[in-house]
Amino acid sequence: MTHVFRRDPNADLPVAVRGDGIYLFDREGRRYLDACGGVVVSSLGHNHPRIIDAIKRQVDRLSYAHAGAFANEPAEELADFLTQRSPGLAYAYFLSGGSEIMEVALKTAYQYHLECGASERSLVIARRQNYHGSTLGALSITGNAQRRSIFEPLLARTPLVSPCYAYRDQRLGETEVDYGQRLARELDETILHLGPDKVAAFVAETVVGSTSGAVPPVPGYFRAIRAVCDKYRVLLMLDEVMCGMGRTGSLFACLDDGVEPDILVAGKGLAAGYVPVSAMLVTRRIHDAIKSGSGSLRNGQTFVNHPLACATALEVQKTIAEEHLVDNVRDRGQQFRALLSEAFAEHPHVGDIRGRGLFTGVELVDDRPTKRPFPARRRLHAAIKTAAWRRGLMIYPMGGTIDGTLGDHVLFAPPFISTKHDIETITETFADVVKDVFDRSVP
Ligand code: PLP
Repeated sequence: MTHVFRRDPNADLPVAVRGDGIYLFDREGRRYLDACGGVVVSSLGHNHPRIIDAIKRQVDRLSYAHAGAFANEPAEELADFLTQRSPGLAYAYFLSGGSEIMEVALKTAYQYHLECGASERSLVIARRQNYHGSTLGALSITGNAQRRSIFEPLLARTPLVSPCYAYRDQRLGETEVDYGQRLARELDETILHLGPDKVAAFVAETVVGSTSGAVPPVPGYFRAIRAVCDKYRVLLMLDEVMCGMGRTGSLFACLDDGVEPDILVAGKGLAAGYVPVSAMLVTRRIHDAIKSGSGSLRNGQTFVNHPLACATALEVQKTIAEEHLVDNVRDRGQQFRALLSEAFAEHPHVGDIRGRGLFTGVELVDDRPTKRPFPARRRLHAAIKTAAWRRGLMIYPMGGTIDGTLGDHVLFAPPFISTKHDIETITETFADVVKDVFDRSVP
């Protein structure tokens, strides 16, 4: 009998008691290979000794000092570390989770325009299928119908444009560049339709994660989007809560797209799950408009710039940098997609293998030539999850890949410390899982 209000109160969950590298262990001693970092969080694997030591050191010195009263060294150092490596961002603000940092990003975008005398700029344009969090503001700009569904009456209406989803939406004969330009024109027309002086920001996941399965933008897409935003003084806000902090093979995913956002949010892998922490990074222009305007960022929360959280994130990021783990992310990611492509070259139900770095998606289809998805009622993603669980493989399958209802994919996010052998094991086990579901009909 549990008194924990679980997300699925009917589920009988194993009790996790220990972690070690790429593995988690439950109370019965069962071992799980964590190939998805929970929900794309555990980038350093579990129980990393260097991070545990850093946490202990910080606890011995200072755990909490309210950000309204004190600055603190870990937050200062972490802000330096991130901004110095960022695409043109100069200031950082830290909170706990991805959803709440997205709330602050929305408020900051609006406050910036307000300070510049454009208080009517209150609309945020988002993309269909992108997920930005579960709090009401973040859910309001989420374009995934399934996640919004029952809360629709509580949500603000957000104008939506198409995501960049080449596998399904790039037209026959259209180049990647032309496809990206077409999407940028769609944003341009949407801004014009809404009225440019009403739009505060455009928000997008740099590489789309949980809802569509590691979908990277086509080359040139974000540069074209940036140009449209600049044309109308609309802020470009990138959500890298899932895809950021090295996951795609660059500390910031957008570095590979040659684009500088006005606001960027990160979370999850920032402290690799050792503590909850998230970050908003903004340009000097945004910071200075508020500094020289009202002089106050209008957001007060208890755990802003938490010293223990920031010290942990700093150690995680230093470890990743000093051990050159981002290089490993790139190499292992390439290895993984090559192995998957080989294993499923002829598979009738593996439609697309995509991603960047150790952020990989496999889209499953009923018919490969026409890309026809399985009927939603088959709940293929759930069958894959069950089969993987039986084999002790933690992956992140999801339905509604295409539009929130149709489509199935599996998202992989192995730790940055994964070895060649680990990647082979993940591929082989996943191939067995796929066989269990399609060939052996294991229920
Ligand atoms: N943004 C993206 C892209 C996410 O994937 C998520 C969570 O999955 C969030 C925001 C919300 O983060 P959190 O669950 O930490 O509130």
